[in-house]
Amino acid sequence: MSTPTLDGLRREGEAFMESLSREYYRAQAGLQPDAHFQEIYARHAALSSEDALDLTRETFRGTTPGTEDRRSARLMLDWVAETRVSRALAESDEREIAWEGSAMAKLDDGTRIPYQRIAIDLANMSDRRDRQALERARARLVNAELAPLRRQRFERERDLVESLGIGPTYNATFAEVSGIDLAVLAAQCEGFLRDTQAMWDDIFREAVRDKLGLDPREATRADALALLRAREFDAAFPANALEQVVRRQMAEMGIDASANGRVIVDAAEREGKRARAFCSPVRVPAEVYLVLRPHGGQSDYRTFLHELGHALHFGYTRPDYPFEFRWLGDNSVTESYAMLCDHLLHDAAWLRRYTELGKADVAAFLRAAGFEELQFLRRYCAKLLYEVALYGGEVPWDALPDLYVETLGRGTTFKYDTADAFVDVDPRFYSARYLRAWQLQALITESLRERFDADWYRNPSAGPWITSELFAEGQRELADELAQRVASRALSFGPLVRATEALVSAS
Ligand SMILES: [Zn+2]
Repeated sequence: MSTPTLDGLRREGEAFMESLSREYYRAQAGLQPDAHFQEIYARHAALSSEDALDLTRETFRGTTPGTEDRRSARLMLDWVAETRVSRALAESDEREIAWEGSAMAKLDDGTRIPYQRIAIDLANMSDRRDRQALERARARLVNAELAPLRRQRFERERDLVESLGIGPTYNATFAEVSGIDLAVLAAQCEGFLRDTQAMWDDIFREAVRDKLGLDPREATRADALALLRAREFDAAFPANALEQVVRRQMAEMGIDASANGRVIVDAAEREGKRARAFCSPVRVPAEVYLVLRPHGGQSDYRTFLHELGHALHFGYTRPDYPFEFRWLGDNSVTESYAMLCDHLLHDAAWLRRYTELGKADVAAFLRAAGFEELQFLRRYCAKLLYEVALYGGEVPWDALPDLYVETLGRGTTFKYDTADAFVDVDPRFYSARYLRAWQLQALITESLRERFDADWYRNPSAGPWITSELFAEGQRELADELAQRVASRALSFGPLVRATEALVSAS
């Protein structure tokens, strides 16, 4: 490809995305021992070339805001810019993955624990002293080895993005190519933290005192992991029923969970296969893999429903849409469809119909889910506020760890560690996508209840509406445009505050 054209980029882009996605699927499903992403980038080097960047940047500048051409040009520019930055960071990302696979934390007594097992061990430890000892070892290791790697990675990423010639700063560039106003979202996050503070203080004190027997002022992030592990309901979510129950529910709502064979479920037991379910759209919409290894329990159900939401979205996307509307766009949209499915676990009648929870258990389950939901929402609000500062460039790199501990502590009340200031970061503001997905999901749920009643998930008219009005559009629209189209309302935290209040007071 000598002088790139937009259609050339679309054609090659589709081949590139298919190769990347297939490589990811095969490696994570245990079908091949490792992934070779660098080779794929090298094979499609034209996509990350200076010429491709110039073409998409100038095309974007030549379009009029508010037009369909502008929409398409923004998606192409966002994607070429991201591909270019990702390629430059691929080596350091691979180094990081290799580190994670081999690093060992060393306890005070000399015991060595693989880094990758620490989060699971922390969640399963009932003795607080054991938890603290392991957490100390983890923080030491991260501080000495992973944190410097990650800090370098973010410094590099900020420089690369600022040299793209799109906006003067990282944050201005992000706003330009994503169409997301970070200042508006950050103000909403501050508002959410304020509006839910009293509710959070109440349930936090109760949970930490009753379930962990701790002084609420002492609780750390490691204690949070143990608290959120909540195993008492797992028996009501049996592994062998998972796929069948969810297929039945989708059928009752009028959705074929296999999308006429385009969504392929890979549930086979295989060595090297990832434990958590994931979705790989290899060709959109024709070939979408939903990979799982059912082991039961509520988190297994939640992950499966979440990934199914992604899979159905890709599997029902209009095949006649151009590359950018099928493959690219605002990931807040696909995350909101994933959350629309996983939030079915917050519906009392759904739980009674499709799980083995008894009537009395349902209320207790919902209250626990409300605690978890509010914890995660407040954590993500705090993360977004911190990440705006991290990428913003006005706070010196050396001052970020203290800001991280202060901001995450303010949001969650749990004590965080400075060691994680560059580790606990979602690159490229993915936290903004999640927050907007949460907002959109709550709005769509309210809208589905109005249109198809409280039990919309088993109303045979709901599924066809969801596939044709939502999934078929791919990610052509921004999450806020979609909110206006289907609910005639702006994105906000309002519906989420209402839903969370209902959960924590379930009886
Ligand atoms: Zn997701």
